Amino acid sequence: MKRVQLTEQLSFSQFIQGYWRLDEWDMRKQDLLTFIMQHLDLGITTVDHADIYGLYQCEAIFGQALALQPELRQQLEIVSKCGIKLPSEKFLTQSIPLYDNSAEHIRASVEQSLKNLHTDYLDTLLLHRPDVLMHADQVAETFSALKQEGKVRHFGVSNYSPQQFDLLQSRLDFKLVTNQVEFNPMNMQTSADGTFEHLQMHRIAPMIWSCLAGGRIFNEDSAKAKRVRAVLTEISKETHAAIDQLIYAFVLKLPCNPMPIIGSGNIERVKSAVAAANINLSNEQWYRIWVASNGHNVP
Ligand code: NAP
Repeated sequence: MKRVQLTEQLSFSQFIQGYWRLDEWDMRKQDLLTFIMQHLDLGITTVDHADIYGLYQCEAIFGQALALQPELRQQLEIVSKCGIKLPSEKFLTQSIPLYDNSAEHIRASVEQSLKNLHTDYLDTLLLHRPDVLMHADQVAETFSALKQEGKVRHFGVSNYSPQQFDLLQSRLDFKLVTNQVEFNPMNMQTSADGTFEHLQMHRIAPMIWSCLAGGRIFNEDSAKAKRVRAVLTEISKETHAAIDQLIYAFVLKLPCNPMPIIGSGNIERVKSAVAAANINLSNEQWYRIWVASNGHNVP
């Protein structure tokens, strides 16, 4: 599998395994360990987590599987995120979900993720969402301290606009390595609001979440989903590629070096996704999907 070089010291696998839905997969520890080894065999070495996944459960489930074979840790790049606080046993007094990129919350979250994942470092930490109340200087200080302590090696953001990205970058003396954003034929906003142009300009490869729109492309009843399915079915006949593969190929054609995050815990679906790296959509095929998504021709 292709590697994407993010800095001199850090590369990710082109496809990344997402673990948001891990608590729904109903895997025993040993099954999960097998799944991790299977995706490693495919070349997927980068895994995506967040403190909140599974209402604060998923990282611990993953960590328990990893503890069965601790030497696998060195083969993985572990990405985690923090900055969202959900009402839960953890935050009992909180009545609504909120964002918190304060020094105190970032540090507490990282310490907990390290414990849950059974590791002493994160390869990359992302701020999950932009927090309007974030003090960029305070975040920079916290990032630098975590780096110095060896607890987090690299940093990035998720769901950040170019301006939000630039603000945080302006306070750091090392590079933010990625912006993890949504892009799929049901939601192409990041290709229209300057996000991808900004990343291409700075040669920063984005991680792409929900490439399959969380599975909605396959079953949603909306007019948009029906148009998208119809055109993907046509292109599937032309190319003999499966619809999920065409969607990954649609994402991979973006010129900003995207790294799709796979959301399925089914290894056959993971294999199918990875094979999409060999599909080259023509510009016309790509724009037919664009037209189906927008419901009109290009202006
Ligand atoms: P996705 O690939 O868009 O959706 C995965 C869902 O689609 C799963 O429920 C899967 O079911 C289903 N699916 C896959 N192939 C299918 C098919 N051929 N037919 C029907 N259903 C199918 O990805 P996602 O899980 O939404 O997101 C991927 C990763 O991105 C997450 O794990 C997480 O790491 C990350 N993420 C980040 C953010 C953020 O804000 N930064 C937000 C959301 C997600 P099966 O499991 O049964 O295959």
